Amino acid sequence: MNYVDRVIEEIKKKNPNEPEFHQAATEILNGLRPVIERHPEYEKAALLERFTEPERTVMFRVPWVDDAGMVRVNKGYRVQFNSAIGPYKGGLRFHPSVNLSIIKFLGLEQILKNSLTGLPIGGGKGGSDFDPKGKSDNEIMNFCQSFMTELQRHIGQDTDVPAGDIGVGAREIGYLFGQYKRLRNEHVGVLTGRGLTYGGSLARKQATGYGLVYMVEEAMKCRGDSLTGKTVVISGAGNVAIYACVKAQELGAKVVAMYDSNGYIYDKNGIDIAVVKQIKEVERARIKEYVNRVEGAEYHEGCKGIWTVPCDLALPCATQNEIDEASAKILVENGVKYVGEGANMPTTLEGIAVFQAAGIVFLPAKAANAGGVATSALEMAQSSGRMYWTFEEVDAKLKNIMINIYHNMDNAAKEYGVEGDYVSGANIAGFMKVAEAMMAQGIV
Ligand code: NDP
Repeated sequence: MNYVDRVIEEIKKKNPNEPEFHQAATEILNGLRPVIERHPEYEKAALLERFTEPERTVMFRVPWVDDAGMVRVNKGYRVQFNSAIGPYKGGLRFHPSVNLSIIKFLGLEQILKNSLTGLPIGGGKGGSDFDPKGKSDNEIMNFCQSFMTELQRHIGQDTDVPAGDIGVGAREIGYLFGQYKRLRNEHVGVLTGRGLTYGGSLARKQATGYGLVYMVEEAMKCRGDSLTGKTVVISGAGNVAIYACVKAQELGAKVVAMYDSNGYIYDKNGIDIAVVKQIKEVERARIKEYVNRVEGAEYHEGCKGIWTVPCDLALPCATQNEIDEASAKILVENGVKYVGEGANMPTTLEGIAVFQAAGIVFLPAKAANAGGVATSALEMAQSSGRMYWTFEEVDAKLKNIMINIYHNMDNAAKEYGVEGDYVSGANIAGFMKVAEAMMAQGIV
């Protein structure tokens, strides 16, 4: 059995009941086959085995008290996956579906994503099965303080710098940072996504969504195409989805559908994103409220139907495995030309195969949504330098980074004989830098 197949098999055997981790590892290792052929020395160094085994996994109890005085207990995680090229960096996710498999898949992806940004950041990820939905601000604060009371032992501005993800936005980062500062007595850049009054960076909030659209724009430009007049479907109504919508509309596209975890809205006149922001960011309410405020809009219960809405560009920006084989087929039949992944692993392996067979321009998450972590690294640079850049400066750097990532993955795909296959291109371009650093640092 060849080296890649053997490692995939071992991963499944050694990490039972971790389907999301198996899926991400399989996708990545399959993409690395041309690299392994060219570098037989990696097998002797057990490079793939080391690359797919976290350097450290921390799991802990998070007890907290709800508003009724009841004690609740959640699970906490931090997977410090790879620090070959810099301190661990990656978000925290608070969602009831969180388990070790999900955190490990996200952490593994993060290593390559962070490498692709060209910035010195390693890969990590963390979170909890805590569900912020329906909780009061006081309950959120109690939970965040308890979570950080344990997490602070394991992180630090030069060790591991967490950020937000699903369920962890500005409010949660504020409470987490406050508790870190109180326990450690240091005001340092230990978390990114901080508020602008305490070390945050302008444009961080917009970065993932904007970055995604900058990459799509570049892919279109290279094909003599543009966003002007294009019809777009975006899943999700959170941080990534909202700012992807803002930027796509600014560049002349029409976004006609979005969803939250209950159902999707369709607005043939183009989504009024100010209304979505008011509902989701300010009121923390359900997206179906949109139809009460915008004439002519429709609401459909359930999420999956969103992929039956015809579009030129699909931007899945909610969560993993949103687009399966059947949804991918419908999108292709309805004429989709570009798919850009804003969420992490939103397309199943079977879905990706459908897009690639149909010749769709498919921009994978680890490249297309790297704008968030890239801007987090810019936040770290501003913190260490005790200075601030303007919105325009950060935005210009972000755009430049996204364009560079696009060309790096495009070039890597060409160099390794898989032109246009950006799944392989992104995996190869991200992996080569990490592999070289790991080989140089000896058996660690
Ligand atoms: P948010 O929590 O801000 O928003 C997530 C959105 O997706 C919400 O609208 C939520 O619905 C919806 N959603 C979540 N889970 C499901 C589900 N199981 N089914 C249907 N809808 C769901 O998260 P973000 O926007 O920050 O993150 C979205 C994705 O982007 C994630 O995959 C994340 O890992 C990825 N990402 C985020 C980055 C960032 O900078 N924030 C950076 C890189 C990647 P509801 O409103 O009902 O909760």
